[in-house]
Amino acid sequence: MTGLILENVEKHYGTACAVKDVNLHLPEGKLVCFLGPSGCGKTTLLRMIAGLETLSAGEIRLDGEDIGQTPAHLRNFGMVFQSLALFPHMSVGENIAYPLKLRGVGKAEQQARMVELLQLIQLREMIDRPVSKLSGGQRQRVAIARAIAARPKLLLLDEPLSALDAKLRESMQVEIRQLQQRLNITTIMVTHDQREAMTMADIVVVLGEHRVQQVGTPIEIYRHPANEFVADFIGSGNIFAATVLGGGRVGLAGGESIEVPSCVNVEAGKQVRMLVRPEDLQLSAPAATAGNRLLGTVTFVRDIGSTIETIVECSGVAFTALSTPCQGIGLGVGQAVSVTIPAEACRLLGA
Ligand code: ATP
Repeated sequence: MTGLILENVEKHYGTACAVKDVNLHLPEGKLVCFLGPSGCGKTTLLRMIAGLETLSAGEIRLDGEDIGQTPAHLRNFGMVFQSLALFPHMSVGENIAYPLKLRGVGKAEQQARMVELLQLIQLREMIDRPVSKLSGGQRQRVAIARAIAARPKLLLLDEPLSALDAKLRESMQVEIRQLQQRLNITTIMVTHDQREAMTMADIVVVLGEHRVQQVGTPIEIYRHPANEFVADFIGSGNIFAATVLGGGRVGLAGGESIEVPSCVNVEAGKQVRMLVRPEDLQLSAPAATAGNRLLGTVTFVRDIGSTIETIVECSGVAFTALSTPCQGIGLGVGQAVSVTIPAEACRLLGA
């Protein structure tokens, strides 16, 4: 099978477990993000793929070949780390050509490839500039050009954008993604930023507590999180306790009930956890409770221009609703409001 396959991969440091029982198939040409909170094992997993850490257990195969014992320098993977590690005493061009020089590529071929890459990253005119005299974003592009110079089979990026300010970071996310798609290079990127993962990835691997929690497209993991950990980590969400009443209804803490079709086959009396995304809630002028429309009281409003966040206390649950200014109904704290919880937007969370 082509692509990268990880089978039962584990990493232990003494008695501590950094990565537990990881099974993944990463298809060729895709950008995959390892996403998770600090300390969950993202970097350790990437370093094992790179050959910079040994495996405590399991197997890593690339296009069918077991690479678990192959030394890092023989894997032909391009890498960019948070620190970039460009050579400060070298020019832009020399930095990019360095991996080719190491591999004994002839001078003329080095030059041609370097120019091709400089054009790709739109820094052709900076060929002789010392890297110390580049902006953060330009340095980032040089690091990526250097990483792909030797046409690696895999590009590994470990939080490459974390040192950049928010605006530059967003434009670099789009730039790296476009470059990756143009070159069709299989890429794995580590990040703890869910927005970054959602922006860039074909496939997101959510890691938590040293294990894979879910693998899916950004929309799959956002809309159909496998469990509460993923639901909570990806985007903002209203996660609340409910009691299954039977017939596809659940009771909320305050005694009112709503229809949730995904609970139809769950036994009555069971305590469950539910998710509804803030943008799915609909606020309207106060009216009597009917169906999935409940009456509540506004406890908080934050208007940040592009969106309005409103917290409504409703049947014992504090629901956060997101609306756009044109949907706004001019709510203030203490006011009564109706909240509609669309039945199909309400998800039952797995354990
Ligand atoms: P961050 O986002 O903070 O970089 P991460 O998800 O990349 O975190 P890792 O750096 O992979 O997490 O670390 C996973 C776990 O393994 C952590 O508990 C960490 O303390 C531990 N760990 C990592 N490297 C070593 C090491 N060389 N020796 C002992 N423990 C380690």
